[in-house]
Amino acid sequence: MADRRGLLIILSSPSGAGKSTLARRMRDWDPGIAFSVSSTTRAPRPGEVDGKDYHFVTEPEFKAQVANGDMLEHAHVFGNFYGSPRGPVQHAIDQGRDVLFDIDWQGAQQIRNSALGQHTLSIFLLPPSIPELRKRLEGRGQDDAATIARRMQRSWDEISHWDGYDFVLVNDDLDVTETQLKTIVAATRLRRLQQPELTEHVRKLQSEFEELA
Ligand code: ADP
Ligand code: 5GP
Repeated sequence: MADRRGLLIILSSPSGAGKSTLARRMRDWDPGIAFSVSSTTRAPRPGEVDGKDYHFVTEPEFKAQVANGDMLEHAHVFGNFYGSPRGPVQHAIDQGRDVLFDIDWQGAQQIRNSALGQHTLSIFLLPPSIPELRKRLEGRGQDDAATIARRMQRSWDEISHWDGYDFVLVNDDLDVTETQLKTIVAATRLRRLQQPELTEHVRKLQSEFEELA
């Protein structure tokens, strides 16, 4: 067991608000942050790499993982199943590494209510406006018009859960949001709960005090 307890850093937002972009920047900032690679039954998009962006699995494979208790959380989103495999997360936080999750509000809620809930840091990203959200989805150039329309329709459902998160950021200027994100993570790493070694340190301070007497 490491000196510090890793954080489960959850990033949620309506699709297109900037989660993946900011998750990438966070990992460039601190390569020690592990990324939870979700399993999904959806088809890979052009450029997505199996095992890096997602584990692309069949529905029976996904359901077997859930039945075996191998998923920390799972949800049905846009007609596909998504879930966070438990093993790699537990391994990383036992080593004192933080784990970053790009998951929806249902997954965030399940992790918050799990045994690891006290080690979570949840952040919700809001777009500056709905027209800007649509512009970003279109500009990403990954989805056809019907998929974009479906994602836009589902946006309000995701946004309506904004008030269940520890922090909420309006992702207008990307650099500003990135700085805010780093500040939040740096501060949360100093929570008493994330620093179990403090008990030992305070014990040492106490014995130094007693030697003074
Ligand atoms: P999500 O992962 O939330 O679906 P992405 O990170 O893929 O969203 O971002 C959607 C698109 O918007 C991408 O093309 C990305 O480059 C762009 N984008 C993200 N954040 C901003 C921002 N603050 N300003 C302008 N464009 C942004
Ligand atoms: P996409 O298909 O655009 O990659 O993801 C669609 C939505 O599913 C996003 O809101 C994303 O955050 C969410 N998602 C991705 N992986 C997981 C997961 O493992 N669990 C949950 N609950 N949601 C996920």
